[in-house]
Amino acid sequence: MSENRFDLIVIGGGPGGYVAAIRAAQLGLRVACVDKRGVPGGTCLNVGCIPSKALLQSSHHYEYATEEFAKHGIQTGSLGMDIAAMMARKEKVVMDLTKGIEFLFNKNGVTYFKGTGELTAPDQVKVTLLEGEEQLLTSSNVLIATGSDVATLPGLEIDEQRIVSSTGALSLDRVPASLVVIGGGVIGLELGSVWRRLGAEVTVVEFLDTLLPGMDQDVRKQMQRSMKKQKMKLKLSTKVTAAVADADGVRLTLESVETGAVETLQADIVLVAVGRRPYTSGLGLQQIGVALDERGFIDVDEHFKTNVNGVYAVGDVIGGAMLAHKAEEEGMALAEHLAGKPGHVNYAAIPGIVYTSPEVASVGRTEDGLKQDGVAYHVGKFPFSANARARCNGETEGFVKILADAKNDRILGVHIVGPNAGDLIAEAVIAIEVGASAEDIARTCHAHPSMGEALKEAAMDVDGRAIHI
Ligand code: FAD
Ligand code: NAD
Repeated sequence: MSENRFDLIVIGGGPGGYVAAIRAAQLGLRVACVDKRGVPGGTCLNVGCIPSKALLQSSHHYEYATEEFAKHGIQTGSLGMDIAAMMARKEKVVMDLTKGIEFLFNKNGVTYFKGTGELTAPDQVKVTLLEGEEQLLTSSNVLIATGSDVATLPGLEIDEQRIVSSTGALSLDRVPASLVVIGGGVIGLELGSVWRRLGAEVTVVEFLDTLLPGMDQDVRKQMQRSMKKQKMKLKLSTKVTAAVADADGVRLTLESVETGAVETLQADIVLVAVGRRPYTSGLGLQQIGVALDERGFIDVDEHFKTNVNGVYAVGDVIGGAMLAHKAEEEGMALAEHLAGKPGHVNYAAIPGIVYTSPEVASVGRTEDGLKQDGVAYHVGKFPFSANARARCNGETEGFVKILADAKNDRILGVHIVGPNAGDLIAEAVIAIEVGASAEDIARTCHAHPSMGEALKEAAMDVDGRAIHI
């Protein structure tokens, strides 16, 4: 077993780990990054953000061509679909981006180990390389960035054939006749949309009485309307109590949370999308005494330090919003902190996006949250149906909603459902980051015609002076 000494060892090469590794190397630290997947990028690049967005784009093009082209005076004749080609394109997008991370590791002098890392002491990581050989790495700083894994339900066995997780749903080799999605959260709606657009009959079974729990009430209402309009069947306040798979499909038993009424449902494929759990197995955390919280996430302080000296953690494995950009911010802040700089993450300004159509993007407080905390606020709202660019593009569903502090007009939250919401939200994130008021956005010139004008109008509406409604 050979021994290597580093200033920082990162276990996990996802957005939290690889960003921390690169930033620490930029700041002059000698860094190792260990990942057992064989390719860097973690969940996000390999089986998460990137493949799902690639398929969302392909399926959007297909649906747009079938449903919308004719409205623009474009005749296509009959359209065909080549799932194998769609999947191959997705794989190529993933491969190009993961190669990009390897290039960045090389460029910045990060030593990349393809293997499984285990803490054998607070300053020692045993790496079992994919080829089987073992290496011992030592460092006074070890970062755990091992991310998360699919959560499942008791009595439900994910076989990735009939009962699939998001990973299986990203690689189906045919369009299922019927797809039941358990969980009306982000994965449920994104991957449900992919397969519905390609022709599957999709039913979403959600335990709570709403889709996208935790999001602003107007967003939830709009998305429920939009998904129903797209012929996605919704079974809210419903739980799955059993699922039996055979050669023909899956037989699900459902129970109403409110009445207890039981029904059965047959599905070609079932997608389990009920959340994710921290990935900590095999890391040796118990041996070295790293404390976990009651849900199994690694407990850290504001500088991502665990209870064990020299051992840190960032990303999905510490909980909070399970988002790639949140993990990246944490990785960056930790690297800067280790290099003696003031690394910091502003959790009030982390956006969240759902890449459905219409798209959803939110940052900051929800109206429900402000009410609960007794904060006085003003609301400004503007519909995309009154936005000229949205009309030109034929994408008028949705709105921009701004919540501003009643005392000083400071922006507390922004919620967008509509075209390009995921890009439009950046303006709102900056506004929250710099402590801007609704008046600041209202007085900023926005190009015409652009979707961004909806933000300006919503900001003006906070003061009851929107022009175009
Ligand atoms: P991960 O990306 O999970 O990376 C951890 C890595 O550590 C993995 O490669 C794992 O194999 C490795 N590892 C684990 N244990 C060991 C060990 N002992 N030794 C070595 N390596 C180990 N987020 C967004 O912001 N936007 C999106 O659009 C989005 N879409 C998503 C779609 C899907 C279908 C899924 C499942 C998730 C999506 N997410 C999205 C969430 C996002 O993928 C995660 O929040 C993000 O990847 C977390 O980054 P991380 O670095 O903490 O962990
Ligand atoms: P989620 O937390 O978004 O949604 C899970 C849903 O399942 C919730 O609505 C919950 O009420 C429901 N649920 C839980 N138990 C249930 C049960 N027994 N029966 C029916 N419904 C049940 O989780 P997810 O969609 O699995 O996504 C996992 C994580 O990945 C999320 O934290 C998300 O942030 C991240 N992700 C992000 C993006 C993005 O940023 N665009 C995309 C995909 C995933």
